[in-house]
Amino acid sequence: MRIRHLPETLINQIAAGEVLERPAAAVKEMVENAIDAQSSQIEVRIENGGKSFIMITDNGRGMSRDDLSAALDRHATSKLPDDDLLNIGYLGFRGEALASIGAVARMQISSRERGADEAWSIFIEGGSKEDAEPSSLPEGTKIEVRDLFYATPARLKFQKSARAEYLAVKDVMLRLAMACPHVAFALVHDGKKVFDYPVADDAQSRLDEILGNEFGHNAMSIEAEREGILLRGHAGLPTYHRSNSMHQYLFVNGRPVRDKLLHGCVRAAYSDVLARDRHPVLALFLTLPPEQVDVNVHPAKTEVRFQDPGLVRGLIISALKHAIHDHGFAVTSTVSHAALDRLARPQNHGAPAMALPMHTGRHMSGVHAYSMQMPATNTIPEDKRGMAEDFYTSYTPQMGWDSEIEPSARADMQTEDPQALLDNPEHFPLGAARAQLHENYIIAQTPNGMVVVDQHAAHERLVYEKFKKQMQRDGIIKQGMLTPEIIELEESECIRLLEHQDTFEQVGLEIDAFGSDAIAVQAIPVLLGDKPKLKALMEKLAHEVTESGTAQGVEERLNQILSTMACHGSIRSGRRMNTHEMNALLRDMEKTPLSGQCNHGRPTYVTLSLSEIETLFGRK
Ligand code: ADP
Ligand code: MG
Repeated sequence: MRIRHLPETLINQIAAGEVLERPAAAVKEMVENAIDAQSSQIEVRIENGGKSFIMITDNGRGMSRDDLSAALDRHATSKLPDDDLLNIGYLGFRGEALASIGAVARMQISSRERGADEAWSIFIEGGSKEDAEPSSLPEGTKIEVRDLFYATPARLKFQKSARAEYLAVKDVMLRLAMACPHVAFALVHDGKKVFDYPVADDAQSRLDEILGNEFGHNAMSIEAEREGILLRGHAGLPTYHRSNSMHQYLFVNGRPVRDKLLHGCVRAAYSDVLARDRHPVLALFLTLPPEQVDVNVHPAKTEVRFQDPGLVRGLIISALKHAIHDHGFAVTSTVSHAALDRLARPQNHGAPAMALPMHTGRHMSGVHAYSMQMPATNTIPEDKRGMAEDFYTSYTPQMGWDSEIEPSARADMQTEDPQALLDNPEHFPLGAARAQLHENYIIAQTPNGMVVVDQHAAHERLVYEKFKKQMQRDGIIKQGMLTPEIIELEESECIRLLEHQDTFEQVGLEIDAFGSDAIAVQAIPVLLGDKPKLKALMEKLAHEVTESGTAQGVEERLNQILSTMACHGSIRSGRRMNTHEMNALLRDMEKTPLSGQCNHGRPTYVTLSLSEIETLFGRK
C-alpha cells in the first residue's frame, strides 16, 4: 500500500461533504458571497427545493475575468487581505464554497465587475473548469447551479424531499435577511414568489416584516450590555411559544448562528415559564469585539466559540430573565384575540342574542357567553364554603407568607369592597371578583372590562413562586410525617428517585428505600398542603429525573422539581371558591412575579375590554 496525494477534484468533493450538507447550504454560501460583495439586491430562484436548480442574481461588486477563474479554486479568497483570522469582516473567508459547489454540480457563473464594460462567464462541472468566455450582464453576478450532488452519488441518495429542502432554503434566507436589513431579498420557488423584502431602514423594520405584527405585539424588547458585549433584539412573551426552536433567530456580529451555547441560554432563561417541549420565538443580536469570538469552528460557520463563554451566558440569561420578570404580569394578546374570533356572532338569526337557547349545538358553544349573566355576588351556599377554605388555609398568616408583603400593601389587601377595588386599578389591575364558573374560572370586573382567571393555572404559579422564594431564603419549610407514607412504585422508578435523594432533600422531600419496589416518604414541603397525592407526584418526578438526565444545571433541576410539586400542590379545578377567596387569589397574583403564566407557559388569565365586549354585541 502506498500513500498518494489525492487529486484536486477529489479533495474538493471531500470538502464539499462538510460545507455543503444540502441545497440550502449552497444557497447560504452563495447569498453570503453576494452580501460580502456589497450587493443591495439579491434574488434567489430555486426549483425542486434547490435540488435540480438554483439561481442567484446580485448587483454587487462583481468579478473580473481573472478573479472569476480564481474564485473557483480552493482556498482562494479576497476576504482575508491581512491573513488575520482574528478579525474577520466578511461572512465568508475560507475560500472553499465555490470550489466545493463546482466539484459536485454543474455551475455557470457570469459576472461584470463594477465599472467594467464587459462581462465574463465561466462553466465548471464535476470539478473540471472551462475557460472564461465573454458574456453579457449588468453589473453584478449571476450564478446558476444545476444537478447539485450529481457527482457525489452517496450524498445524492440521502437528500430529503423537495419540500423539506425548500423550507431549509427559506429559513437560511430569512436569517440572512434579518441580519442584513439594508439588502433587498427575494425568493422564488418553482416559479412562485415566496417573499420579496425591499431595502429596510433598520433591523427593527425588517424584523417586523418577516415575523409579522403578531410577534411585535407579543415580544419584549431586549437591550443589555456587559463588559463591551452588547445584546439587542426581541424576545417573545413566555405565553407566545412554538413546538420547536426553529423560530429562534440568533446572530453573532451580524452572522446568523445556530449555536448550542446560545440556544442553551434561551432554554435556561425560559425554563421557569415554559414547558420543556415548548420554545419561545425570538431574534437576538449579540455584538462583541471580533477577537473575542472564533467563527472558524466549522466549515458551515454557524457555530462559534467565545473567549469567555461564562460572560456571554450570564449576559443573555440575565437579560432575558429580567425582561420576563418585568413582563411577568403580561399575557400574550393573541390568546384573547383568538378567543374573540371564536366568539363570533351567529349570522342569520332574527332574534336578539338574549333569546338564544343555551344549547344550540356544539358548533355554537362559544355563544353561551352571550346569554351568560353575571351575578353581582356569588351564590355558593354557606355550607359549601368551608371546602375551599380548608385549602386556602395556605393563604393565612399562620403559614408565614403574609410576612413577605409590605405593611402598606397589606393594608390595601384587606379591602374587599368592590368599589374600592375598581377605583384603584393601579393597585388592583385584576379588579373585583364577581363569580366563579364551572368551579375553575373566576370572573372579575375591572374598571374597563373583565378578566377571566384559570384558578388552577394561577395558583400553580403562585405556589411555585412561593417555593422558590422559600428556597432562596432559608430552604423549603417541610413537615415530617407522623408515620412514613409507603408508596409502591416500579423498581426502576424507585432506583431513579433514590439516585436523586439528595436533590429531593433540598426541596423538602425526604425519601428512603423501602424494599425494592416501594419508597418511604418521611417528610414533605408544607406548601404541598395536607393531603397531597404523593403517588402521582413521585411517579411524575421519577419520570422527569430520567428525562432531563444530568445535562441540566442544579438550579434548573431544582426549579423543575419545584414546578412539578407546585402543580400537584395547587388548587385543582373543581374547587368552589367564595368571593373572599377569589379576591385573595387575585391580590396574590398581582404581587407575584410572572403570575401572567403558569409554569407551562399557559396564560393564567385573559382580559376582555369593554370595547371588545361591545364589539361582540355589535354595539361598536
Ligand atoms: P469565500 O467567500 O470564503 O471567500 P468562496 O468560495 O465563497 O470563498 O468565494 C471565493 C471568492 O469569489 C470570494 O472571496 C469573492 O472574491 C468571489 N466571489 C464569490 N461570489 C461572489 C459574488 N457574488 N460577487 C463578487 N465576488 C464573488
Ligand atoms: Mg463564500
